[in-house]
Amino acid sequence: MKIGVLALQGAFATHAGVLRALGAEARDVRVPADLDGVDALVLPGGESTTMSLLLDSSGLREPIAEQLAGGLPALGTCAGMILLACNVLDGRDDQRSFGVLDIDVRRNAFGRQVDSFESDLAVDGLDGGPFHAVFIRAPVVERAGPDVDVLATVEGKPVLVRRGALVAAAFHPELSTDDRIHKLFLEGV
Ligand code: GLN
Repeated sequence: MKIGVLALQGAFATHAGVLRALGAEARDVRVPADLDGVDALVLPGGESTTMSLLLDSSGLREPIAEQLAGGLPALGTCAGMILLACNVLDGRDDQRSFGVLDIDVRRNAFGRQVDSFESDLAVDGLDGGPFHAVFIRAPVVERAGPDVDVLATVEGKPVLVRRGALVAAAFHPELSTDDRIHKLFLEGV
């Protein structure tokens, strides 16, 4: 399996490491040609406003939008979740997302004082106990569409969702020494 990892900005390198440890081929995606032949795409955490600008300057916006619209499986984490969402709340006016996952996502939802926290999440369908999740200036899902499965919540709001082979996490699964979210994603691919 060949997994592209969007490598414009943010926490992409750690994702590639986890994917390789699970036996997948991971390829950094920086220009459109890097998308050739990938079976899925990871959109990492970082800063969604910056990534939105870089998607335009790199020429990746259109080819990725086309592939996602055609059903390319994707894992979006934190800023990557924002990039997959249909609706972004508290976004910057000029930031744009791919709009393939029917969720409303609020950026920086857990406030300034509590920029980062860790939480043991009960994840629906994941064997082996709770998943220790790292949240960094994390978004939250304010609304999930009827076709979207909610796999985990914090304070009653979704932080891990899935629709078919699209998985989105408000946290950084690549920072936990636990590869079960990546495994769940690869199984869907
Ligand atoms: N707050 C960031 C944003 O809006 C996301 C933070 C992260 O990816 N760790 O893009």
